[in-house]
Amino acid sequence: MTPHSPRPPSRIMNAPVYLDYAATTPVDPRVAEAMSRHLGLDGIFANPASRSHMAGWQAEQAVESARRQVADLIGADPREIVWTSGATEADNLALIGFMRANRARGRHLVTSTIEHKAVVDTARALEAEGFEVTWLEPQHDGRVSPSKLAAAMRDDTTLVSLMAVNNELGAINDLAALSAVVHARDAVFHVDAAQATGRLPLDVVEQGIDLMSLSGHKVYGPKGIGALYVKRSPDIRLEALIHGGGHERGMRSGTLPTHQIVGMGEAFALAADEGAADQARIESLSNRFLAGLQGLEGIHRNTDTGVSVPNIVNLSFDGIDGESLLMALRGIAVSTGSACNSASVEPSYVLTGIGVPRARALTALRFSFGRFTGEADIDAAVADLQHAVATLRR
Ligand SMILES: *Cc1c(COP(=O)(O)O)cnc(C)c1O
Repeated sequence: MTPHSPRPPSRIMNAPVYLDYAATTPVDPRVAEAMSRHLGLDGIFANPASRSHMAGWQAEQAVESARRQVADLIGADPREIVWTSGATEADNLALIGFMRANRARGRHLVTSTIEHKAVVDTARALEAEGFEVTWLEPQHDGRVSPSKLAAAMRDDTTLVSLMAVNNELGAINDLAALSAVVHARDAVFHVDAAQATGRLPLDVVEQGIDLMSLSGHKVYGPKGIGALYVKRSPDIRLEALIHGGGHERGMRSGTLPTHQIVGMGEAFALAADEGAADQARIESLSNRFLAGLQGLEGIHRNTDTGVSVPNIVNLSFDGIDGESLLMALRGIAVSTGSACNSASVEPSYVLTGIGVPRARALTALRFSFGRFTGEADIDAAVADLQHAVATLRR
């Protein structure tokens, strides 16, 4: 744009209201500030593995302080945190790394049909490798029943992988009850907690969790950083997926990205301080949103109140497909659960997985709220939805 070009029309100037926090969150300005101090020559940029100079030790200190911030949020010991590139890699390391390292003990893994793709596709890859997987069907509310899990456990089951909070529904699993079932059969419990940090209290000791996947960018940290919590006593053996300099106690090689790690640490410290207050405020915004839509007919809630986090609301709109509704919504950024192939639109496997009929699943939208959502955003979203639904139904 030249300096003399006219101002663009305000519609373009006004960014849509962002209601897709479950897909990713913006980086908190306090996190960005901490990261910026770990990039340039005047900051702490050195390789944390450099032992021969002060700059390297400072970087190592920054990494270790972030390791403690991450551990503190989940009640772990810092030595139990392994840095990864995100929760996807953490899920891969937990499932593949554990099943391969413990194949002599058994080859059976239990998970559910509505896990994140990072778990579903990894479990499928393990099946192709000769491991056996039992795919549990969740209840209609999106939770896995502990008694159903108990019935699926076998003598050769070594690992159970279930998520803390479902990314499409917000459904919360009862981790302590599930963990009791897993441990009664001497198996190991992995939890994908990418959607749970900052939304729910987590305590790996109290809840009996052996492996836990974490992500930076779902909780106001940067993308491209995550961690796997690996319980130390009794020691859990994992086979590395990435080989190199033997970083992270041999479990994950590669130069540690100091700025990303510092960002995730700061984000987790903020989640510890402010997560509960954020959630309380978001719950009232979520109620305001639902109250605003009350006048509209033919709306079904796919999220179950009482057993799900308030920051995720999944709704279906009778007689309107999700893609058309998405197009008609001019002022809000939300997500459909469906996957678009060139030939057809497939409904979300999570919605069909909890028994939502295919036709209704195709009309679903996921609204997710976060730290920077305000009342004005909710009111704009309600007005936009009312207008779009009325227009499409006419
Ligand atoms: C976002 C997400 C992931 C993937 O995390 P990345 O850090 O983006 O790799 C895994 N599991 C769940 C439940 C998620 O919501």
